[in-house]
Amino acid sequence: MKRTSLAIRNKVLVVSVLLGAAFSAVSAAANAQTLNNEQIFEPVPRLVQSQPTLFPAPSDAIVLFGGGEKDLEQWQEVGSGDPASWLLLNDSMTVNRAMGASTSIETKRTFRDIQLHIEWSTNPVIDGDQQLRGNSGIFLHSQFELQVLDSWQNPTYVNGQAGSIYLQYPPLVNASRLAGEWQSYDITFEAPRFNAAGELETPAFISVLHNGVVVQNRSEILGATYTSQPSYDVTCTPYAQTVAVDCSGAMPLILQDHGQVVSYRNIWVREL
Ligand code: MG
Repeated sequence: MKRTSLAIRNKVLVVSVLLGAAFSAVSAAANAQTLNNEQIFEPVPRLVQSQPTLFPAPSDAIVLFGGGEKDLEQWQEVGSGDPASWLLLNDSMTVNRAMGASTSIETKRTFRDIQLHIEWSTNPVIDGDQQLRGNSGIFLHSQFELQVLDSWQNPTYVNGQAGSIYLQYPPLVNASRLAGEWQSYDITFEAPRFNAAGELETPAFISVLHNGVVVQNRSEILGATYTSQPSYDVTCTPYAQTVAVDCSGAMPLILQDHGQVVSYRNIWVREL
């Protein structure tokens, strides 16, 4: 091959590689995804400065926790159905660390499609790292975890950081604020639909603003986030439970006790 044609071929090769790299970079801008619930570590979502949306419930919202003494009565322990044992402090409720990561709580009400506002704060005293630093989570439909974690300078697998759909989608960006500061999630959730034969018609979708910044943009949920191979079935075993139930209709919201200090306040929902 002549030297000139070899040079041209090499240039084409270099351009192709660069185009391929550019395409990969564009692809990486959307949420990465795995078909199975597996940890992924890159690309790392870039950090953006943000402000939490701390505002009261609209007039047509159902207030699930407003800080009143009786507000814990809207919640119960997952599995046992015992009264919620989280600590009621000031206007928030906090994971009761003394219970040893065994007291995730759920709403007594059940929901399908919702808009959900929730404010949360991790322990201002940093006493762990990665998944042991401010870990909690919000399980939509009792099965799909929107991760809560102190993700300020706390690297972990990206589909396990704050704003991720656990083990399925990393957040588009990292909108985290410092440990101990109040942060917000504003969520719209579409529950899965099944036909009369019990077959899946439409999967669940979720959009999330973390501190006012889009981190999930109608992400299609693949199934329960705590199983190795997520799928949809008309019966399911909700998070932290052992008995399968009918999950084709409305289901509770669950807040996760992962054994770390995490607080919640100002929780309200609008049914869609
Ligand atoms: Mg969690």
